Amino acid sequence: MTHAALARLQQGLAKARTEHLARTHTVRDGRSGAALEIDGETLLAFCSNDYLGLAADPALVAAAHAALEVCGVGAGAAHLVSGQHRYHHEFETAFARFVGKPAALLFSSGYQANLGVIPALAGRRSEVFADRLNHASLVDGAQLSGAAFTRYRHLDLAQLEGQLAASKAADKLIVSDLVFSMDGDIAPVDALLDLAERHDAWLYLDDAHGFGVLGDGRGGLTERARASDRVIYLATLGKAAGVAGAAVAAHADVIAWLVQTARTYVYTTATPPLLAACLVESLRQIAAGDARRAHLAARIAQLRSGLAELPRGTLMASQTAIQPLVIGDNAEVLRVAHALRARGLWVPAIRPPTVPAGSARLRITLSALHSEADITRLVEALHAVI
Ligand SMILES: *Cc1c(COP(=O)(O)O)cnc(C)c1O
Repeated sequence: MTHAALARLQQGLAKARTEHLARTHTVRDGRSGAALEIDGETLLAFCSNDYLGLAADPALVAAAHAALEVCGVGAGAAHLVSGQHRYHHEFETAFARFVGKPAALLFSSGYQANLGVIPALAGRRSEVFADRLNHASLVDGAQLSGAAFTRYRHLDLAQLEGQLAASKAADKLIVSDLVFSMDGDIAPVDALLDLAERHDAWLYLDDAHGFGVLGDGRGGLTERARASDRVIYLATLGKAAGVAGAAVAAHADVIAWLVQTARTYVYTTATPPLLAACLVESLRQIAAGDARRAHLAARIAQLRSGLAELPRGTLMASQTAIQPLVIGDNAEVLRVAHALRARGLWVPAIRPPTVPAGSARLRITLSALHSEADITRLVEALHAVI
């Protein structure tokens, strides 16, 4: 008997390959850093979300060693069973204080947090309003909630306002990336909060790419948004924080509600407590990280001025560490990425469905670990290959 279902998968794979859309792994050795060892080669990399260079920082590594001796490796159980270690508790308390919210809850990843928080706040009688360019995990969380799901054009708050006004839902939830992960632009937090207040909605902001980097490290919340009971804040902790996991910060009763109802919190083993100990150290480094942030800002400015005259490709209008260079065509973006790799540079090519069709791009990400010479090398290589 032929295995028809397997044959259909194989056809799907063949199609993705001919359309230059197939995704494959590379294998990395060593540590996160400006230079990465990829498939046995050392490449200068512009692909990581380790924006502050904390993922292999000696202070975090030392925190991991010290905690390991105290708590071992695994958490042993879910948080509500016996998995909540003192390190988890210390991190949640310190995180809430740092971002200026009354309480916080640690999830094992940003993806899990979004699959847990949105269905905890929205159900079949609710409506979720989402920016079209929101991260996949926010889309999936909204789908899982069973709420009506309404998307507005990227940053089009006039359209969002009309949708809110027309809604008859019992509960409304506005969901947005705070820094958009493939474009690098920033959501207008206070204007979104105005709409949430006017239409009695929650506002859930996913600051995966802003926490640690924006402002004084506390991320993209404004003072008004910190003070508002309507605003629920998510920071993921595998990016600038350099570790893993995600923390949600909000009104204490919102956090108490998540403890009851967020299924991706309740029904999963707690993250290893040693990671929470690393996260406490990471918060210290972020709080004291003005020099890292200033260095990163200087590298962003250097890249933007260096690429201003590029003959082809469009550098998007981003001021963050995510600097997308839109090429358009899938095969062409792969050609450019391969040409850079031949020169020892690794910049990821991002294609549909991660970004809209026709907007394939190099997603250049910068880190405080990049030197001025590293950026000069990337700028010169791009001018040569594009
Ligand atoms: C990376 C990312 C996530 C997922 O976070 P993980 O901790 O990697 O699971 C969620 N939202 C946004 C906007 C992201 O960029």
